[in-house]
Amino acid sequence: MADTIFGKIISGHIPCHRVYEDDRVLAFLDINPLSVGHTLVVPKEPAVTGTRDYNVLENNGAPAHQAIAHVHFHIIPKPNGQEGLVVGWPAGALDPARGQELAEKIRAALLHIGK
Ligand code: AMP
Repeated sequence: MADTIFGKIISGHIPCHRVYEDDRVLAFLDINPLSVGHTLVVPKEPAVTGTRDYNVLENNGAPAHQAIAHVHFHIIPKPNGQEGLVVGWPAGALDPARGQELAEKIRAALLHIGK
């Protein structure tokens, strides 16, 4: 496992507010959320992205800038400081008690979807 914070979270050495886990993926609440429910979905197998820099983006709903109502993912190269996706990132701080409550709610909702 790569020696990153996410590797330590996957191995259980650093806690997280887990919302989903299977043998391939761990999903947990971002500790500095941009909005309530901001979740990170992390493959357990460490992946090397190489030298290419890029963003993967999926917009859902008009307020989130979705224009075409057919699910699609943008792969947007970031070859330099000017081109590519410009992201505003007004991060907050995840309150531990609120995080525990929220992760429980999301886990329960995911179980419901699975049935
Ligand atoms: P990125 O900048 O795309 O690599 O995103 C990394 C994200 O990981 C950021 O949004 C951080 O807030 C989040 N993050 C860093 N450490 C932790 C942690 N211990 N638990 C949860 N989220 C974290």
